[in-house]
Amino acid sequence: MTTSETLFTKLTTGYDQSLSRGGIDGRRIAERLSELSMIGASAEGGVTRPGYSCEEKQAKQVVKSWMEQSGLKVTEDGAGNVIGRLEGTGIRKTIVSGSHVDSVPNGGNFDGPLGVISALEVVEAWKETGYLPRKSYEVVIFSDEEGTRFGAGLTGSHAMVGQLTEDATSLKVDKDGKSFETVIEEYGSSLPAVWRAKREMNDIELFVELHIEQGKILEKSDVSVGAVKGIAGPVWMNVTFQGEAGHAGNTPMDDRRDSMVAASHFIHMVSTLPRQFSETAVATIGKLNVFPNGVNVIPQKVELTVDIRDIHEDKRDCLVEAIIEAAEQSGVAHHVDVTCQKTLAVQPLLVDEELLSNMKESISEFGMEPMELMSGAGHDAMVMGREVPAAMLFVKSKKGISHNPEEWTDLSDCVIGVHVMKDFIEKQMERS
Ligand SMILES: [Zn+2]
Repeated sequence: MTTSETLFTKLTTGYDQSLSRGGIDGRRIAERLSELSMIGASAEGGVTRPGYSCEEKQAKQVVKSWMEQSGLKVTEDGAGNVIGRLEGTGIRKTIVSGSHVDSVPNGGNFDGPLGVISALEVVEAWKETGYLPRKSYEVVIFSDEEGTRFGAGLTGSHAMVGQLTEDATSLKVDKDGKSFETVIEEYGSSLPAVWRAKREMNDIELFVELHIEQGKILEKSDVSVGAVKGIAGPVWMNVTFQGEAGHAGNTPMDDRRDSMVAASHFIHMVSTLPRQFSETAVATIGKLNVFPNGVNVIPQKVELTVDIRDIHEDKRDCLVEAIIEAAEQSGVAHHVDVTCQKTLAVQPLLVDEELLSNMKESISEFGMEPMELMSGAGHDAMVMGREVPAAMLFVKSKKGISHNPEEWTDLSDCVIGVHVMKDFIEKQMERS
């Protein structure tokens, strides 16, 4: 049995057939997820499709052929973003939906592909029911969302909104020493063409992305889908505690400048700060280097990184200030020097109240309790949301596992997601 058959069988086993209605076909969604799972398949049942690789390109080719079969006019921009367009019957406005088909090394089969296949399933459903949208509709595959190759990510969406930076492109090389320019040329495009991928956004009325939750909130509440109220933008900060090395046996406790003690005091303070600023704020210290890192040496220096996120930019920035203050206080208390340096600050996206309420309405329409969720991870919707109104719908993830072959979403939940998104888009089509 091939990987594809395994995934198809696994998906369709236990699927609630009654969900295949209104032109939406669970079997087709399962077939498509399975077909994509074959491209760059790993031995563990996951996929490896880095941005701008042959595998990502092949996955786009497959989706392109589905887009053409469903009657979409397909184009590709200089950044490799694939756009399938259906002309509206009346109003000169466009609703866009999509996601990505690249993956992290040995990633899962749902992160990205589900959003692309779902956006296309809406078109398939319209074709079957004879629904003609008043506004134009586009299905988009964004290039290199994960950023595995150059460590930046969201490359395609950044190029589309004209916010791709030098830092994310020409300054970096991949693990084989290839520059972004070389990689993009081997892919069949060019650096000038990537810059030209910036598109006019005036006609885009809305961007909507369906994505797996990559968390456990929906599973814990036993609901299939949830409306995303915001996407948290991270701030990364390097904090260094500089003390003095000394012999662990010969230095009295009150005569030390122990950078580790100062750092641990700080780490504890950071864990208590986010909730003082916002219900949705989080802060994480996930990386720490100790110098000289010896069993019997008082640590001279500790370097650590803090990842700080919230959907509310002002509250997040206040939290960042409080964290800097906590670092300084720990330094003073333990007689060590402290430096803080911000290395990244990404603007969060707060979903417009009206769009959020419309998404919740579409969830209620399906007979489910509408839940609001925050996205801790960045998505193409976050980038698109800087230029146009953007909404997101999360679908339940098994145990919250993602970026791993174990990533799983039941087909019934996938299909419920498509129903909700289709309803949300159709209602938006009717709004003037
Ligand atoms: Zn994703």
